[in-house]
Amino acid sequence: MKTMLLHTCCAPCLTYPLTILKQEFAVTSYFFNPNIHPYKEFIRRLQTLREYSQKQKLKLIVDKTYNLEEFLLNCLQIQPVRCVHCYQVRMLKVAEYAKISGYDCFSTTLLVSPFQKHELLKDICQQVANQVGIEFYYQDFRPGFEIGKQLSLEAQLYRQAYCGCIFSERDRYEKKKIS
Ligand code: SF4
Repeated sequence: MKTMLLHTCCAPCLTYPLTILKQEFAVTSYFFNPNIHPYKEFIRRLQTLREYSQKQKLKLIVDKTYNLEEFLLNCLQIQPVRCVHCYQVRMLKVAEYAKISGYDCFSTTLLVSPFQKHELLKDICQQVANQVGIEFYYQDFRPGFEIGKQLSLEAQLYRQAYCGCIFSERDRYEKKKIS
């Protein structure tokens, strides 16, 4: 069975992709999300993921790096949209970790969300994969988004009301989608 390092943004987004991926891969979850603000929210999402991973008997690797100033500065400077930096920094980290640790490939649970910039994310993952020299496994998990929602409700997971960064926390009040 091939090994996969699965970047995991949060437990609710993990639910559906995991049911699919574990049929084909030995999956390890990897949490690296310096985009989650404020820090209290970061800890809450991480804690939810820890509990869910334990129940699923899923190996979880956590990188708690949290460079808030650097993240915000880059989001504002790298254009055309803040998500470019957000995806780049997270996908590069997971790809590099996967490469040095000997995984066969990497992927991300962000591919399940209809609220993400799916095509941009996919392109950045592929660019990073080429740069690092590791396979990026792509699957459009969005058709399973509602199933994942149901799974997370059944598991009584904490479900956040915004993507992660402080900008998206503000935007939810303007009912703006980021995709
Ligand atoms: S909206 Fe989401 S993906 Fe975009 S920068 Fe903020 S946290 Fe990252």
